[in-house]
Amino acid sequence: MPTVTHGSYGALLFHPNWKAKRKEILIRDQHRCVHCKSDKELQVHHRQYHFIVNEQRFRLPWDYPDKLLMTLCESCHSRGHNKYKVPTVNV
Ligand SMILES: [Zn+2]
Ligand SMILES: [Zn+2]
Repeated sequence: MPTVTHGSYGALLFHPNWKAKRKEILIRDQHRCVHCKSDKELQVHHRQYHFIVNEQRFRLPWDYPDKLLMTLCESCHSRGHNKYKVPTVNV
């Protein structure tokens, strides 16, 4: 079972599709971290990673439903990742 991290999404996070999705989520969350309400260094976090079994690949970062994405500031985001492992769901 391969693992995925933000690191392996690296280059994809500069993809125009991700930039567009990220913007949608930031607007939905009113450009605030959903945890601490900070408006500094905002990032969009995936609550789950989806592994598409039929295609043996991970879902592209912008292909997730909006409810699985959330706005976090850099510090809540890195704290969250240190504390919890993002679950990988086979779809
Ligand atoms: Zn925060
Ligand atoms: Zn994250």
